[in-house]
Amino acid sequence: DQGLEKTKDNFLSKITKAVAGKTTVDDEVLDNLEDALITADVGVDTTLEIVDRVQKRVAKDKYVTTSDLNRLLQEEIEEILPDVTEANFGTFDLGAVKKPYVLLVVGVNGVGKTTTIGKLAARYKAAGNKVVLGAADTFRAAAVDQLTIWSERVGVPIVKQPMGSDPASVAFDTVQSAVAKNADIAIIDTAGRLHNKVHLMDELNKIKRVIEKVVPDGPSDVLLVLDGSTGQNALEQAKQFTEATDVSSLAITKLDGTAKGGVVLAIAHQLNIPVRYIGVGERVEDLMIFNKHEFVDSLFS
Ligand code: GDP
Repeated sequence: DQGLEKTKDNFLSKITKAVAGKTTVDDEVLDNLEDALITADVGVDTTLEIVDRVQKRVAKDKYVTTSDLNRLLQEEIEEILPDVTEANFGTFDLGAVKKPYVLLVVGVNGVGKTTTIGKLAARYKAAGNKVVLGAADTFRAAAVDQLTIWSERVGVPIVKQPMGSDPASVAFDTVQSAVAKNADIAIIDTAGRLHNKVHLMDELNKIKRVIEKVVPDGPSDVLLVLDGSTGQNALEQAKQFTEATDVSSLAITKLDGTAKGGVVLAIAHQLNIPVRYIGVGERVEDLMIFNKHEFVDSLFS
């Protein structure tokens, strides 16, 4: 169940209520289902798409019982989530991927960015990769300190500069160091100041440009970290971030202890960016590789 108990309980009980006393899926059930999904944080647009698809299948198959509904829903939800094509999705094994793999991590403060980076460093290292961390959030002393603690705990080198240094310069040093050390992966933390979108955009673009000076293709992956426990706010934040910069994958944290995990469906669907990881706790092993089939399955069983 991946630590998603609260989300699952919320999701299932709402769907169960939507079909209570009904044997076939009629317009009233579809209406109830719409309310159920919206209140389970699946988001309006995503809910409408799901219900529309279910409605079409019900019309096509003529007689559909409410006991068929969960299976049907599960299939349609999976269908609308983006597919993943990169070879290294679903694994910490970088295998045939070009080295160093440059992972740029973006997101607003407090969402669990540093923790996610620490967990990633541990998991990539455990999978046999040589890891280098880069502390390019030079605006917060706490961010550099936290990342330093993770680098010591995991036993991987960290590249940092004094507070207030140019983040792009730290990113440049990190990738250069990764190349010099023949590292497999460089994981770079950045500052996420969303209150000034133009500034954020300029800063991230500058970081990408200097990375390109070392590795011509630029970052291999721009991972946006979002706090799943904030529900629809996480969706809004994701929309704003993707307007400011190109994001290629998502990590959604703090899904343990929240009933709002339905937002994962809304975010993945509406942004059409694959979710790569989910955070379900504070331990290293609480960072899970996201698998859409397993995730959707865990909402229903
Ligand atoms: P940052 O400001 O984005 O770097 O956030 P941090 O990494 O410092 O995390 C903020 C808080 O959230 C810390 O107390 C973390 O331990 C906690 N946290 C991060 N990820 C998770 C998660 O998946 N589940 C839970 N329960 N807590 C988390």
